[in-house]
Amino acid sequence: MAGTAVVVGAGVGGLATAIGLRGAGWRVSVLERRAEPERYGTAFGIHPTAQAALDRLGVGEAFRRRAVPYRSARIRTPRGKVLASLPLERIERRAGRPELLISRPHLLDALLARLAALGGEVTVRAGVEAHDVPALVAEHDLVVGADGIGSAVRTALLGGRSGPRRIGTVAWIGIADFESGIHGETWGRGRFFGMTPVEPGRTNWYATVPEATTAEELRDRFAGWHEPIPRILAETDPATWIRYEMRHLFPALRSFVHGGKVALVGDAAHAMTPNLGQGACTAILDAEALTRAVARHGRATLPEALRAYDTERRRAAQRVAFGSRTLHRFMSTDHTRLRNAAISALRVG
Ligand SMILES: Cc1cc2nc3c(=O)[nH]c(=O)nc-3n(C[C@H](O)[C@H](O)[C@H](O)COP(=O)(O)OP(=O)(O)OC[C@H]3O[C@@H](n4cnc5c(N)ncnc54)[C@H](O)[C@@H]3O)c2cc1C
Repeated sequence: MAGTAVVVGAGVGGLATAIGLRGAGWRVSVLERRAEPERYGTAFGIHPTAQAALDRLGVGEAFRRRAVPYRSARIRTPRGKVLASLPLERIERRAGRPELLISRPHLLDALLARLAALGGEVTVRAGVEAHDVPALVAEHDLVVGADGIGSAVRTALLGGRSGPRRIGTVAWIGIADFESGIHGETWGRGRFFGMTPVEPGRTNWYATVPEATTAEELRDRFAGWHEPIPRILAETDPATWIRYEMRHLFPALRSFVHGGKVALVGDAAHAMTPNLGQGACTAILDAEALTRAVARHGRATLPEALRAYDTERRRAAQRVAFGSRTLHRFMSTDHTRLRNAAISALRVG
């Protein structure tokens, strides 16, 4: 028999979890502290394994309608010399389908549409911030913390040992209103610039620099780099750029579950630096694995379901987080030799 669940957070991880639980017949309420869905966020790369998870959640078709394939990307020097290829061709060859890119708002829309289509006993309560986590645990059979890197659920139940940690780098992200013609990443000393497709006629871009850099300084930092990097920064309005401090969850959690009725998914469980582009993928994989385990075991053996989820996802997600942090170190180093070692590891064509 199914039960009642509360999911804290309506980001990618929370909405995907709500879909899976509702599909398994649970009564679900989602609490989201924002009054309105957040409309910002640039492109997410969605790996074929996460696409398969979206298919299993019934979101695949709506997702693919707004996604674009990511087939070719190179790593370049600031002067434009190609050093290596990102392994996108290999991913497509192995999986039989390409990596896809989708803007964050479009992915959230696809998840919300699926949740609405499932109907029945699911409510999304916007503008409600979860504070009293023990009360939620007392009132529901299952509590899912999908509340991001600063997770109130994690802090209340697993303590403050692990928390958000800054890594001394800021990322700037934005969208240019033209197609760049080339995609991939350009690595320079202590900074890098990336460009990906996102939708026809637009280019998703991101740049990382040391924390103190302002928007005005960003243009200077990339002046003289190969085109279209200076053009992108010159032609997009800095008022539309988003700046965020790169953080990750440290130290890694010893468990993603607690007390037989609480589970963490996505950034709440393993927030990572964005270098491998896996934040959304891992949240989707967590949500699908958790809800599959819960559907298989049912309410009566929920603690077993949560243990199965922890076994399936914790090490896997933490390996990705560690890989992303390590790649960040290589990409942002001032030492050319270390950077070249990372490029050699990536070189496939
Ligand atoms: C606004 C925004 C923009 C982003 N843009 C990008 C991007 O462009 N590129 C990229 O790679 N990654 C981006 N990310 C990160 C990316 O979305 C996540 O790494 C990934 O999707 C994992 O999602 P998540 O659902 O675990 O966490 P999140 O996306 O962080 O979602 C957590 C949700 O929980 C809500 N919440 C937090 N605390 C509470 C509480 N106490 N009560 C109720 N609700 C709560 C938050 O408002 C948020 O909606 C962005 C995240 C956010 C929040």
